[in-house]
Amino acid sequence: MGQTITSADYYLFEQDGQRYAFLPSSFAVIEIDALFGEVLKNSHLRPKQIHKVLAQQFDGPAIDEAILEVDSLAARNLIRPPLARPPRKKGFDLQCLLLMVTNACNFACSYCHGDHEKLPPRPMNEQTARRAVDLLLERSGSAPALSIYFFGGEPLLNFDLVKSTVAYARGRAIEQDKKVSFGMTTNGYLLDPEKAAFLHENGFSPLFSMDGPPEVQNACRRLRSGGDTFDRVFANVKHYLELGGPCSARATITPACMDLVALTEFFYDAGFRGVSLEPVTSPGTTPDPRFQLDLDLLTRSYSELAERTLERIVAGKGRYNLFVTILERIDKGNGHFKPCFVGEENWTITAEGDIYPCYRFIGKPGYRMGSVFDGVNLKISRRFEKQNTIFSSRQCHACWARYICGGQCPADRLEHTGSITRPVAEKCIIQKHLFTLALKLYVRIRRDPHLSETCFAKPAHSPLLPDPACV
Ligand code: SF4
Ligand code: SF4
Repeated sequence: MGQTITSADYYLFEQDGQRYAFLPSSFAVIEIDALFGEVLKNSHLRPKQIHKVLAQQFDGPAIDEAILEVDSLAARNLIRPPLARPPRKKGFDLQCLLLMVTNACNFACSYCHGDHEKLPPRPMNEQTARRAVDLLLERSGSAPALSIYFFGGEPLLNFDLVKSTVAYARGRAIEQDKKVSFGMTTNGYLLDPEKAAFLHENGFSPLFSMDGPPEVQNACRRLRSGGDTFDRVFANVKHYLELGGPCSARATITPACMDLVALTEFFYDAGFRGVSLEPVTSPGTTPDPRFQLDLDLLTRSYSELAERTLERIVAGKGRYNLFVTILERIDKGNGHFKPCFVGEENWTITAEGDIYPCYRFIGKPGYRMGSVFDGVNLKISRRFEKQNTIFSSRQCHACWARYICGGQCPADRLEHTGSITRPVAEKCIIQKHLFTLALKLYVRIRRDPHLSETCFAKPAHSPLLPDPACV
C-alpha cells in the first residue's frame, strides 16, 4: 500500500444494511462494501499478506481492485497523514473571564463538586471585580468581542456586584472600542422579576442548572435548608421566558432519571432553547453508589435520544443540542483540536482575585496563574496551549474520533487519571458511542434530500460519496 493507514484513519459502521467508512482527517463519509472494509482493516499489511488473509472470502482480482481503491483514498486527499501538532497561535488574547462572584450557594445539591465549599464563603468585592475587568481589557489584544461570565456558588447571591460589574465593563469596553457580552450559570431560585429584567435587558442568555421535572429536580437539587426547589425555579424560568429572553438548561444525569428523551422533551416543552445533559460521572469512575450510572442503560438512553432527534427533525419540531452540535461538526468538517481554551483565551477569577485556567482547577496545586492584583504568570497558559489538545495525548492521537471529539475536559482528566493529557477511558466509551450515533444519523439525513435541507443550511463540505469503486 502507499501511505500507511492505521486504525486511527478510518471508522467503519453500518446503517440500514449499508456499510460506511468515516475518514476523520477529511471528515468524509463514504459508502463501502464488505471487501473494501476488510482491505481497509488490513491496509497496514503488504498486498500479498492482504491476499492471504482474505483469500477464503474474496477472489484475487477483486482484492487487487479494492487495494487500489483504498490506495486512492490518500491520492484523493480523503486520508491524510495525521497532523503532528495543532496550528500555531500567536500569543494569548484574553477573551473571556469567568468571575466567581461568590463561593456561597443557597442549594446543597447531592452531587455538587462542592469545590466552592472548601473556599472561604466570602463574596467577591467591587475592587476585585473591577481589577478583573481591567485585566480582561488589558490582555485582550486585538480581540474585538469579549465576554464576562458570572458564576459561583450561586451568582445571584451577589447580584449587586453583577449589576455594578456589567456597568463598569460596558464603560471600559466603550473606551476601548470593544464589545462585551455577559453570561451566567444560575440555579434560578433567586431570579425574581427585577433580576430577570436586568439580565434580559443586558442580553444575558442564562444557563439554568436544572435537572428536569419536579421528582427529578427535587431528588438531588434541594435548598441548603432542606426544601424542594422545583416550583420556584420553574416559575422563575417561565417568567424569564415570557420576557422573551432565550435561555438554556444544563441538567445532570443521575440514576434518579436516565430517561434522556423524557428529560429533553421536558426542557423543550418548557421553552428552553438548548439543553445540555451531563452524566454526573462516567460509569465505572465512582465508588459512590448514589452516582453510579449503568453503562448499558446510559448508552441505550442516548440511542433512544438519537432516534427521537431524527423524529423531531422529520416533524419539523426543532432539534436537540447534543446531536445537532456533533452533526454540524461532522457536516462542516469542522475539526476540533481542543476541548476548551482555558488558561489561554479563557480565565477564571476567584472571589479573592486569584487567577486560574478554569473554576475546576481552583485550589489545585500548581494551577494558580496569579492574581488580578499581582499580575499573571503565563507559564500555565503555555502549558495548556501545549497539553490541552488531542495531539498531546497518545490515546487521542490514535483515536478515530479525535477531530470530532477534540479531547476531554482537562479537569476531568486530572481528577480521574492524574494527568491533563490522559483521557478517562470510561468517558471515551460514552463519547465514541455518541459520535457513532451521530454518524448514523448523519448518513440517514444526508441520504434524504428533504431531511438534508431541513437539517443543514448549506450543502455538506463533503457530500456522501458513492462506493469508491464508482468514483
Ligand atoms: S478523549 Fe477519548 S474519545 Fe476523545 S479523542 Fe481522546 S481518546 Fe478519543
Ligand atoms: S472543559 Fe473542563 S476545563 Fe474546560 S472549561 Fe469546561 S469544565 Fe473547564
